[in-house]
Amino acid sequence: MSERQPFFRFNPGAYQEGRAFEPSDETCGVCAQPCGWKYRGNIYMRADSPTICACCIADGRLGALLEGEGFSFHDVELDGADPALEQELLERTPGVACFNPFEWPVLDSMPMAFLGYGEDKGLLAIDAVRSAISETFAEIGWTEPVGPSPYLLVFKEVNGDRYRAVLDLD
Ligand SMILES: [Zn+2]
Repeated sequence: MSERQPFFRFNPGAYQEGRAFEPSDETCGVCAQPCGWKYRGNIYMRADSPTICACCIADGRLGALLEGEGFSFHDVELDGADPALEQELLERTPGVACFNPFEWPVLDSMPMAFLGYGEDKGLLAIDAVRSAISETFAEIGWTEPVGPSPYLLVFKEVNGDRYRAVLDLD
């Protein structure tokens, strides 16, 4: 069983409990090895989704197997991302559980990194996160104080300290 944990810069918390992966020795449908870390999320593709391990996602092996048939680990909109980075996010980064398709934030042509949900007390303790949430609420006319909410997705610039919050309403 492979203990390798490839790092995903656009989804750095993918191995946290309840997120994108779970430990499993089930056989990966792509590399035929025990998964080690089995992907628990959705794959958006025409055929039935295979069981897939973290290494196969990181190495882009599903794309090679499908030979150009479209697929994505995400059901998101991306506006203004560099095409190579867009491909890295959609085809080589595990997905984020959400209620509805949402717009993945992009800064300076680079997708941001998903940090967690608006219920995360550690994230809410960061001033810049609370500011980002307030801005998002203000855009839709909410003025309530910022409290824990499962309907918020929190993002951070990959190589910087800017944060964004995205609403994902049920
Ligand atoms: Zn695999």
